[in-house]
Amino acid sequence: MGKTEKAKKIGLTTKIFIALIAGAIFGIILCYLVPSGHVRDDIIVEGILYVIGQGFIRLMKMLVVPLVFCSLVCGSMAIGDTKKLGTVGVRTLIFYLFTTALAITVALTVGNIIDPGIGLDMSAIKTNAADVAQMEATSLTDTLLNIIPDNPVNSLASGSMLQIIVFALIIGVILAKLGDRAETVSNFFGQFNDIMMEMTMMVMSLAPVGVFCLISRTFANIGFSAFLPLGKYMIGVLLALAIQCLVVYLGLLKVFTGLNPIKFIKNFFPVMAFAFSTATSNATIPLSIDTLAKKMGVSKKISSFTIPLGATINMDGTAIMQGVAVVFAAQAFGIHLTMTDYITVIGTATLASIGTAGVPSVGLVTLTMVFNSVGLPVEAIGLIMGIDRILDMTRTAVNITGDAVCTTIVAHQNKAIDRSIFENAQ
Ligand code: ASP
Repeated sequence: MGKTEKAKKIGLTTKIFIALIAGAIFGIILCYLVPSGHVRDDIIVEGILYVIGQGFIRLMKMLVVPLVFCSLVCGSMAIGDTKKLGTVGVRTLIFYLFTTALAITVALTVGNIIDPGIGLDMSAIKTNAADVAQMEATSLTDTLLNIIPDNPVNSLASGSMLQIIVFALIIGVILAKLGDRAETVSNFFGQFNDIMMEMTMMVMSLAPVGVFCLISRTFANIGFSAFLPLGKYMIGVLLALAIQCLVVYLGLLKVFTGLNPIKFIKNFFPVMAFAFSTATSNATIPLSIDTLAKKMGVSKKISSFTIPLGATINMDGTAIMQGVAVVFAAQAFGIHLTMTDYITVIGTATLASIGTAGVPSVGLVTLTMVFNSVGLPVEAIGLIMGIDRILDMTRTAVNITGDAVCTTIVAHQNKAIDRSIFENAQ
């Protein structure tokens, strides 16, 4: 019995991993070995792969709003006192801001060592200047004001994560205060939360198929050739992402919690694979909360608050891409950046990361804000747009790993972690 259960658990993680590799290979075969035409392009790539892949993303998105809302109400109700909630909130915010600032510093350093924009053959690169012109980032004041929901029903309907967080926290605190007087509503949220967790498990069992289709379609569409002219930029971003993940996160985890970092990555891998194939932090929220509870022993009281918050405001991977992009654009256009410029970039990219929504490609939109702050031409964004998809996937995996590491540390500091679950997870 124990053995079968174990085999089942190993099953899903391994299946997702196999789906990632097999999807990439299948996509490359489609791109290079199958002649283009109606069958390949319309039936396989934009037909079957597109429908199944997008269908899977929609299923995951379907879970997000009800799950975040219910689990956050339950979480804040369980914590109850506002002081403790405040401490958790402040600690989480500090960790989120600190890791983001560190991420950009890593990116700027790696960028200056690799020199991604020097010796660039600009004619080999396709620009998307027209697309850049349409981009518009939200201003900082609006970002701040947008935290307060002016119509909570609207916030739920449109999936505005920060507004949902604020409203759910308030309801949870009030339910705790009212106690028995609001027992029916408390029970309702508790039971609805269980339903949503069960639904998450059901949708996740489809993950290998969804991941396979998403990855195959991406590779079938972009192949390798698009990467070559911007190879150094890509290597710079990937290297900085790897440093952030393997050195910064795992180092922080070891220092603050004493947990085994390798085991952490192993347990968390399915969530990273999911974020990678969808490039969407928001859709990853349910799986992240579930995995942290079942494999790391992190209490949902903490994660139901910190994970949706992180998916909305903590984008270390995105900040890294923006840091390397700044060095790249400055070099490609021969603009010299001073130390003050670099400090400005650290500040604005941290704010941009807060303003970046956890959906595909938004990091490119908020990049305009960072470029504007130091006077770099936004046309440079057109250069990197063509190859952004694969980087978007990778940085999203780092974005959500950062949320999970900070959550685990905050849970440890609040004694809301069951280490035996972490140690015994397979
Ligand atoms: N796709 C990223 C995310 O969802 C955001 C971005 O950098 O574009 O985390």
